[in-house]
Amino acid sequence: MSKLKILTYPDKFLLQPTAPLENIDGQVQQMIDAMAETMYAAPGIGLAATQVDQHIQLIVIDVSETKDQLRVFVNPQILWASEETALCEEGCLSVPSIYDEVRRPARVRVRALDADGKPFELDCEGLLAVCVQHEMDHLSGRVFVDYLSALKQDRIRTKMKKRRTREAA
Ligand code: ZN
Repeated sequence: MSKLKILTYPDKFLLQPTAPLENIDGQVQQMIDAMAETMYAAPGIGLAATQVDQHIQLIVIDVSETKDQLRVFVNPQILWASEETALCEEGCLSVPSIYDEVRRPARVRVRALDADGKPFELDCEGLLAVCVQHEMDHLSGRVFVDYLSALKQDRIRTKMKKRRTREAA
């Protein structure tokens, strides 16, 4: 298994919508392994297929401190979101070294398939709720930067461009 290249904002492929997976075959299993490896190596707590230029509805998450509780969500759907919201500082492997606060529902109930294709429902709160919503946004072509003011978005785009020029040099 090898690490995958992570697209960086504002790459246009981050905006591409995803298709649900029809079945979880060996190729998908390999993608799950590669995405998990890429996430742990980054290091990050979540990764959506969109971020590695795979436009399928697949996310991997591990918010545990011990980094041994990998959660796989295939074709995730939000069944319910709390009216209560929470403000949390977010970052993203596709927007390196940028962190800002985003307000989202504090709790969500998600339905998805696991890595074996078995359906499950999960009540999420705290960091897990933030992470699930953040990663699911990627599947619809949304990045957390989109929630920030136009001014902040401009600044981040400029920063990313500079970073890219620096890395290319
Ligand atoms: Zn992200």
